[in-house]
Amino acid sequence: MIVAVAGGKGGTGKTFVSTSLAVVKKSLRFLDCDVEEPDAHIYLRPAFRRWSNVSITTPLVRAWKAKDPGKLKEAADFCRYNALAFVRGKLIVFEELCTGCGGCFKVCPDGSLIEKEQVVGVVKDGAARDGIEFVMGELKVGKQRTVRVIEKVRSAAGESGDVLIDCPPGSGRPALAAMRGSDFCVLVTEPTPFGLHDLAENIELLGLLGIPAGVVLNRSGGTYRGVETFCRDNGIPVLLEIPFTLETARSSADGKTLPDIDPAWSDKLAAVWNRIN
Ligand code: SF4
Repeated sequence: MIVAVAGGKGGTGKTFVSTSLAVVKKSLRFLDCDVEEPDAHIYLRPAFRRWSNVSITTPLVRAWKAKDPGKLKEAADFCRYNALAFVRGKLIVFEELCTGCGGCFKVCPDGSLIEKEQVVGVVKDGAARDGIEFVMGELKVGKQRTVRVIEKVRSAAGESGDVLIDCPPGSGRPALAAMRGSDFCVLVTEPTPFGLHDLAENIELLGLLGIPAGVVLNRSGGTYRGVETFCRDNGIPVLLEIPFTLETARSSADGKTLPDIDPAWSDKLAAVWNRIN
């Protein structure tokens, strides 16, 4: 079973919840797909065994090889990402915009474009606490190929066994790449109008993907009831509420999961797993 833990808005406690679920389930594969700011390793403390680079292939121009300069212009016109510009007879490459789709090499196959490898991130794996196999992606500073790194982490899901995915925040392409193919999605939110807005977006996205979802309400206990009302009106189960306390906030910031803070949470989290099953 593949379970994704997502949250429309950053800072809702998504990783706190996903790592807490992981230590209760034990012996699963944990994929940290929040590659722009991965932090699940702070909670699960893996010992990394392997590192592998994630690369894309960008074009390098060898204009003197061009049999027909018009082909270079065609390549620039072809690139939908505006990573190529044909200016005063010269082809200019904007590497940061290139997605590595490879299309320009097909448009211009005369050797005037050669492949150049660009490292955009790294994927690490190792063994974490409680028999958890841990895989995490890290986008290289200054690079923008988030989805490529997430796809590489997702490819480590394997064919069998339980997998828990810590998704990036939001409902854009990175979140979609991490969630896609999951059997269930736990949406972590907080009881605020912002939390509700982003929750509603994620519910819409999951509806399009056909993935069932449940909500974990973090920092509950305030007077705002918009999230509960939304869940009730849309038939979305609230799987767990985590009340806001200073101790929970401090312990979470110290890298402690819910069962580390109070073992009584283990039963509640086990009940969440039962409901997901
Ligand atoms: S590989 Fe794709 S994105 Fe990159 S420059 Fe060529 S056409 Fe554009």
